[in-house]
Amino acid sequence: MSSSSDPTELLGSLARETDKAERDTSASNPGPQNLGLVKLNPNADVPPPTDHGVVEPFWYSYDLTHRRVQEGGWTHQVTTRELPVSKDIAGVNMRLTKGSFRELHWHLADEWAIMLSGKARVTVFTPDGAMFVDDVSAGDLWLFPAGAPHSIQALGEDGCEFLLVFNQGDFSEESTLLLSDWLKHTPPEILQRNFGLSAEAIAKLPKGEPLYIFPSDEPEKSLEQEIAEVAQHAAKPKMSYTFKASTMKPTKESDAGNVKIIDSRNFPASQKIASAIVTVKPGCMRELHWHPNGSEWQYWIKGKGRMTVFPGQEAARTMDFTANDVGFVSNMAGHYIENTGDEDLVFLEMFVAGEFQEISLNRWLRALPEQAAMAHTNLSRADLEKIPTGDHPLLR
Ligand code: MN
Ligand code: MN
Repeated sequence: MSSSSDPTELLGSLARETDKAERDTSASNPGPQNLGLVKLNPNADVPPPTDHGVVEPFWYSYDLTHRRVQEGGWTHQVTTRELPVSKDIAGVNMRLTKGSFRELHWHLADEWAIMLSGKARVTVFTPDGAMFVDDVSAGDLWLFPAGAPHSIQALGEDGCEFLLVFNQGDFSEESTLLLSDWLKHTPPEILQRNFGLSAEAIAKLPKGEPLYIFPSDEPEKSLEQEIAEVAQHAAKPKMSYTFKASTMKPTKESDAGNVKIIDSRNFPASQKIASAIVTVKPGCMRELHWHPNGSEWQYWIKGKGRMTVFPGQEAARTMDFTANDVGFVSNMAGHYIENTGDEDLVFLEMFVAGEFQEISLNRWLRALPEQAAMAHTNLSRADLEKIPTGDHPLLR
């Protein structure tokens, strides 16, 4: 693609990348255009001729959202307010500087997370009285069940950045239940009785705006020391609320890339959220498929690609994605993803489901009685035998 700032040259280079049939004089566009957006989404501007009909937008980017910045870090979110088509999943991207905390809090939704950069120490307290403490590094996950109070503290010189996924489309980071918020809204004499503390002690509690994100010192104790410390006052956790996906062996791997599937089967804490971390090599694609058990919410971590979504009724729409974008595939809709860049494409497929499930078009066609497959496709037996068996979701 041209790096020129001359609009004519830029559009010319974009047009060369699309089908000739779509760029005769009918597709000319003499009026205003937002060339920055056209460059990011050439398949929306000049769709492939196979696109048709009305498909609701399924693209948004964290780089279009309001970023709440305060001392210690920042946060921004993509929810039904930004991407209305995603009714049951929302995402939050958050940064904490060295030692800073995301304040102790809880909420209505389950919280699934992946560390994008750096390291953090997390705590979660469960209804059985257990306290779980662990450290997570880039590529690792956590799951905090709905209602279980938790904290996140950045470790290391550059702190951390992570992505949170909630099984509630209208979730808002602005409406979580915060410890400092509650204390501020309880009569002080009640706090004295509840904690068995003096008025002087209660007067020390944080005042003003709730803390939400705030700077602090890194923990002086090692993880092992803190685990031993909390064991004196809390029950031992019955399961792990973190999952070290960074060191997990891929569930499926080939020279076209790999897929790590993490759901309730290998991460029992995650009973309601299933995930796949997909890496697609340059020039390769995620095969045509759909998911029989839920909508797919995507976060694009690295690289770029395009996706066509087919919801039925002769409709299909293609959009382009790049790192820090959110994509969405409505329940049952057919789709593929093609790596259109020159580096690895890495993205998340997230589902409100206990288990990851998919239907591969290739596997289905290969599994059918031959005569039925031939009758529907006009393909010969020899053609059908060339179709990959669907054992691997990524294709060269
Ligand atoms: Mn939370
Ligand atoms: Mn999918």
